[in-house]
Amino acid sequence: MMLSRLSEAWEQQRQLVSDVSHELRTPPTPVHGYLQSMLRRCVNLTELQREALEVASSEANRTIRLLQDLLDLARADSGYLHFDLEPLVLNDLVDEVVGMAEQFSEQSISIEAGTFPIEIRADPNRLRQVLLNLIDNAVKYSNPSAPIALRLDRINETVTIQVRDRGYGIPLQQQTRIFKRLYRVDEARYTEGSGLDLGIVKTFVEGMGGSVTVRSKLGKGSIFTVTLPAN
Ligand code: ADP
Repeated sequence: MMLSRLSEAWEQQRQLVSDVSHELRTPPTPVHGYLQSMLRRCVNLTELQREALEVASSEANRTIRLLQDLLDLARADSGYLHFDLEPLVLNDLVDEVVGMAEQFSEQSISIEAGTFPIEIRADPNRLRQVLLNLIDNAVKYSNPSAPIALRLDRINETVTIQVRDRGYGIPLQQQTRIFKRLYRVDEARYTEGSGLDLGIVKTFVEGMGGSVTVRSKLGKGSIFTVTLPAN
């Protein structure tokens, strides 16, 4: 009886997170839209007004992304997270993601590929988010002058994507915990972040039939390796 009550309570908690994230996501979406359209259309804004609108718009966007992450994690927990798996050329998708990442960071990001084309079966939107989260972390947890490198390989029926940085690194005892939701290494408290990004990475990669691991050395950098089935 106790187990069944516990399981009921868990289910209610999951449902609550899912409902609340869904409801809360609705208001900031049009707010972000209005702010963006105002920024595009108003030509006579003072510098201060433009700056204020940009901050408001980026905060609204951050809230939307946070709530979307919570919603996806709640859906994954109840087995309702949907994946649109399709054949993809990984090299092209990675080029596109790196192009996007270069818009928000000045850091050098290189791509090496063992072969071309590397074909995989994955959900393109979810894989984009996985790679953006890993690149975003590589940028956040390293100095602006430290390069970031992506390496793609196919070995038999598996494909690996490595995201390597030469940043601050992660202490050994924390390396297994960082994939847990809301877990942040102490030093990271001073950077902007929710502690959900790697939870999303793990959930999405596993949902596409793959796995993710990390190797890291303090002061030297980190290598995150995503393994996915080849097509
Ligand atoms: P956050 O929003 O804090 O970045 P994440 O889930 O992305 O949350 O990561 C969890 C923690 O793992 C971070 O707080 C940080 O301490 C550590 N971490 C993640 N990626 C890296 C990296 N590339 N280099 C060093 N530390 C990292």
